[in-house]
Amino acid sequence: MSDPALPEGVERHAFDSRERLATRGPPVYGEPTDGEWRAWDPSRSKLGAMLELGMDTGLAGGETVLYLGAASGTTVSHVADCCGPTYAVEFAARPARDLLSVAEPRGNLFPLLKDARRPATYAHVVEPVDVVVQDVATRGQADVAVRNARFLPEGGRLLLAVKARSEDVTADPDDVFDEVTETLSAAYEVLESRRLDRFHDDHLGVVARRR
Ligand code: SAM
Repeated sequence: MSDPALPEGVERHAFDSRERLATRGPPVYGEPTDGEWRAWDPSRSKLGAMLELGMDTGLAGGETVLYLGAASGTTVSHVADCCGPTYAVEFAARPARDLLSVAEPRGNLFPLLKDARRPATYAHVVEPVDVVVQDVATRGQADVAVRNARFLPEGGRLLLAVKARSEDVTADPDDVFDEVTETLSAAYEVLESRRLDRFHDDHLGVVARRR
């Protein structure tokens, strides 16, 4: 069944009579499938959790996307299923190898073995994008988002997952999230933020627009 709050190409689909978020594409991580549809597991994907929790991501489907922290492709595969050209940055060689097989049947998914802290190293490959999705889970998450704002036009979206413990294991997550929001303000206006704890402990989902 199509849901107007979800991007085109993302639906709530019944798998064994249980409705779950789903996209159409080849399976990647052992998720349930039904014909062309495959479940998008919010407990394996922060962007999936943001959609499941009803955050207004602004994603319509078909956008050009820069995805930072692609790992072995769990979430970025769903993004590529519903979006246009999808550039997937990952700096660790092992997951990047798995990402290559995920990209193989997806002609719009372009893996880049690059460090997201150094956008100048992929600026010659990545065209301006409509949306940056980020899930790097390392120290300096907000700074990475600010550095990559260069790829977005004014008003372009940032969909960010922040892991509090990656910034400071001892700090109160709410203090970490306040600091992250403050750092983001150098390049973005935060439109919505929500704790993702139902699916991911001590994570914040952020929807922001490029100033
Ligand atoms: N987004 C993935 C998903 O949902 O399928 C999971 C990402 S995992 C939490 C974080 C990933 O970000 C790791 O694979 C890590 O190697 C990568 N990463 C961390 N810092 C990075 C950086 N500076 N540049 C590129 N990748 C980075």
